Amino acid sequence: MTTLEPVIGLEVHAQLNTQTKLFCSCPTSGSAEPNVNICEVCTGQPGALPRLNAKAVELAAKAVLALGGQVQERSLFSRKNYFYPDLPNGFQTSQLDPPVGLGGFLTIDSAAGSAKTIRLNRVHMEDDAGKCVHDEKRDRTLVDLNRAGTPLIEIVTEPDLSSSREAVDFLKKLHGLLTRLEVTKGRLEEGEFRCDVNISLKPVGSPILGVRAEIKNLNSFRFVGQAIDYEIRRQTALYEANKPVEQQTRHFDHIKAETRALRSKEEAHDYRYFPQPDLPPVEVSPELLAQLQKSLPPTLESLQARYAALGLKPDVMANLLSVVGASVYFEEALEIFPDAKRLAVLMTELFLPACRQSSLEPSQALFKPSNLAKLARLMSEGQLGKRAAYDIFSELFATGADPQELAEAKGLFLVSDNAALKDWAQAVVAAHPAEAQKYLAGQEKILSFLVGQIMRQSRGAADPQLAAQALKDVLGVSAA
Ligand code: ADP
Ligand code: MG
Ligand code: ZN
Repeated sequence: MTTLEPVIGLEVHAQLNTQTKLFCSCPTSGSAEPNVNICEVCTGQPGALPRLNAKAVELAAKAVLALGGQVQERSLFSRKNYFYPDLPNGFQTSQLDPPVGLGGFLTIDSAAGSAKTIRLNRVHMEDDAGKCVHDEKRDRTLVDLNRAGTPLIEIVTEPDLSSSREAVDFLKKLHGLLTRLEVTKGRLEEGEFRCDVNISLKPVGSPILGVRAEIKNLNSFRFVGQAIDYEIRRQTALYEANKPVEQQTRHFDHIKAETRALRSKEEAHDYRYFPQPDLPPVEVSPELLAQLQKSLPPTLESLQARYAALGLKPDVMANLLSVVGASVYFEEALEIFPDAKRLAVLMTELFLPACRQSSLEPSQALFKPSNLAKLARLMSEGQLGKRAAYDIFSELFATGADPQELAEAKGLFLVSDNAALKDWAQAVVAAHPAEAQKYLAGQEKILSFLVGQIMRQSRGAADPQLAAQALKDVLGVSAA
């Protein structure tokens, strides 16, 4: 029996992060009542003419650039004809040749531990269809066109992936990149990032690809992994039984974690692509391209290298890199107060959890990077203790109040005034002569008890380190 290996190529759909649809000015926000965000264009009324959304083109071009592809100066829209109740035009407006982007790549870690490059074939723009909603009670199907005309990009890979793990790694990395760039909001549960998986088997080392199955519309990383593993088992069994693998479109049943045939090659659509006569070519000028290039944030790899050089620990770094908008926020704070480690820890322990809890992106929080920088500075200069800082954080986060003003108003500043500390130290030594004697006799640990007494007397306002020093001074022990 020859050993077989999987060959996998992905077609990923990402909803572009625009306010309005691809060819009309209807809003893209999906959660409204059915058939509210519609007009004559996105419902395919005769005579209605599409007008291309410039923002969608910008976002698509930005994705192509970030993926290392070539943005085409001129690309075309075509009509992809098929009939389905949720497709009011009777065609999808998509890009066949040339698309907005050609080529590009994304690297993932291979099973062997080295980097593996996954080549991209193309990136094209297209509009989304509406939705059919089945009304169980009255046994009829209704059509909701709110989503019809929503802008998408489709990213098509070469068949370079070889396992479910690689496919999932690739998708997570792509999702991270596109959300970080704000090309898409990428909400999986809303279907804003979904993919078709093409998979076949071939003898190891053979240059000839096997017949593939295409699994449609997966919107969860876990489902992608499960669907691939199921297909590998199904196709392997066919090979072993000497039965042919049919070229098929399949559906993934996530309850049973298995795929089911939808249609075979013979039943496949003939899309009869032809140029969309209602739209002029899409132009991306060299000026726009240069401007987009400049606007690209640093790559994940360069940020990782930068954060490692700043001394951030891997888990702290992972936090900053995985949350959308976190690294931008961090960089802004760092520009004001250059203590990277302190800022990163405050973000990991306080700020990002607070954002998550209130479902805010970092940039939406009232607590701004300048507030974070201020808080970090107060702590690093010893004016504000960690305990006090953590105590007031939820109020700072909720109100966006100035950390300095709030700490002052609450009387939380550490007292570093020597005269005050000396008074407290003298009082404590007088009140606890036995402990003072023990300390002087060499029981070092007693010092923390005495410091604790000062903290009590000062209601937590004394700077503990300076309090210890004041005690030593009062007891006549010189600093070592
Ligand atoms: P179509 O448009 O008919 O789906 P494409 O040639 O555009 O076909 O390929 C779609 C995806 O399928 C691409 O990601 C490609 O890499 C992948 N693919 C093509 N042939 C195979 C194969 N034999 N096995 C696995 N994946 C394949
Ligand atoms: Mg396909
Ligand atoms: Zn519309």
